[in-house]
Amino acid sequence: MKSYDQIFLANRAWAQSLKSADKEYFQKMALGQTPKYFWIGCADSRVSETVVTKSQLGELFVHRNVANLVNENDTNLLASLRYAIDYLKVKHIVVAGHYSCGGVKAAYDGLEDPYITDWVSDIKSTLNANGKEIEAIEGDMNRIDRLAELSIMKQVDKLASMDLIKDAWARGQRLFIHGWIFDLSTGELNSLKEIHPDDMIQ
Ligand SMILES: [Zn+2]
Repeated sequence: MKSYDQIFLANRAWAQSLKSADKEYFQKMALGQTPKYFWIGCADSRVSETVVTKSQLGELFVHRNVANLVNENDTNLLASLRYAIDYLKVKHIVVAGHYSCGGVKAAYDGLEDPYITDWVSDIKSTLNANGKEIEAIEGDMNRIDRLAELSIMKQVDKLASMDLIKDAWARGQRLFIHGWIFDLSTGELNSLKEIHPDDMIQ
């Protein structure tokens, strides 16, 4: 047996257990999706959004990348965002980061890697812009965790300044933007920032 056969065995057991509770579960699932959330999360293996929010299939529309960054030139993110807002009509966009993030650490450490350095450069500028606050914190781990928080809040602001989202608000679409952080050491998800549509819809 190959090591990855376990993946397929687990999949069949999972599908079977859902079918025994509701034999049309997957036929119904195949008809379409109406998620209320668009989740922008980190690629880290320990922060699966469906697991940590105890969600079911169909509840979260997801985009993940290293360090949950909103890059205005990222066509992958833009296509997902467009589909979430204008086709799925999600109500909430969540930037969800986490403590002990390897991407944030790479920016903090000044890691030089041709495939990573450029991607995390936005976190590097967040670090430079908040140098005094970060330096006043004791210990690299705590500094990296505060930098993760600051970066999440910055991504929320970036979303709020994007035409895709401003246009939705201008049409009266009630779209919330959230910045959340997951604590790997406690399993808890907490809110850092929220932009309420009533403040943005004129
Ligand atoms: Zn991460």
